[in-house]
Amino acid sequence: RAKEGGPGTVEVYAAHMHDKVLSRLELQVRLRRALAEGEFYLEYQPVVDLGTSQVTSVEALVRWGRDGEAVGPDAFLGAAEESGLIVPLGEWILREACEKVSVWRLSDWDIALSVNLSPRQVLSPRFVETVERILAETGLSAEFLTLEVDEEILLDNGGEAVQRLAELRELGVQLAIDDYGMGYASLAHLRRLSVDAIKIDPSFTADLGRDGTVTLLTHTIIQLGRDLGVQVVAEGIERAEQLEQLRAMGCDRGQGFLVARPMSAAGVEALVGGEAGASL
Ligand code: C2E
Ligand code: MG
Ligand code: MG
Ligand code: MG
Repeated sequence: RAKEGGPGTVEVYAAHMHDKVLSRLELQVRLRRALAEGEFYLEYQPVVDLGTSQVTSVEALVRWGRDGEAVGPDAFLGAAEESGLIVPLGEWILREACEKVSVWRLSDWDIALSVNLSPRQVLSPRFVETVERILAETGLSAEFLTLEVDEEILLDNGGEAVQRLAELRELGVQLAIDDYGMGYASLAHLRRLSVDAIKIDPSFTADLGRDGTVTLLTHTIIQLGRDLGVQVVAEGIERAEQLEQLRAMGCDRGQGFLVARPMSAAGVEALVGGEAGASL
């Protein structure tokens, strides 16, 4: 009947939509339970100084251990944002990561931390107080925490998100623009908020040396960072030539599978040995 294009078509379509809505709701319910039952965990990806190869910081990346399988953030962050679960989940992530890095720092290891934020988290009530409280409770000083936001957050929200981020920066926390270069008019947006770092989108790194325009753009971003006194971090370094080119262009820092994959906290300790100034 569906083939005739009559009411049957609508039914088939409606049934399909129903499935989609159901699975979205089901995912949201499962995520809520996962948080309550402690199924989320963090991996940490080392970031190195491209000049010295020293590990300067780690970026915390959330995973969901679902039925013994690791599920990446792209599969669930959208649903967590939609349902608002990102607020308590984000708080858990921040606390867990700050605790870990605070302990590392207490054992005389000079390392900093980056944590990603979702727009909904930044706009949630009392977000600034939450960050302040977590820093106080974990003993991590604000200067060793970088909060990463995508540049889209600078676009709308009536300036409210920008205001929150500026307040966070006043606490001494560092701010980074993640996946830089992908948004529109991204240069102009840097005027709206003072940031400490920009992270070059991995799609730029991927085409370095292969695509003349991308190579030129990357060069320009690095130069811009220098002129603004902002750290530039290249993401997604997978090949030795990319690393060499970024070094030659004067890029400050880098991360990517070539340098180190995201790994457990124990993995980071084993790799870097918890030594001050350890390099990869
Ligand atoms: P992001 O913040 O840009 O993080 C970098 C992503 O690139 C990570 O993916 C990382 O595993 C991956 N990556 C690192 N090096 C390489 C490489 O050399 N090649 C390739 N192909 N990929 C590389 P992941 O962990 O799947 O995270 C994806 C995105 O999810 C993150 O992008 C971030 O926007 C978001 N995310 C991750 N963890 C959190 C979190 O705790 N809170 C929030 N709000 N968002 C998070
Ligand atoms: Mg990030
Ligand atoms: Mg991102
Ligand atoms: Mg990124």
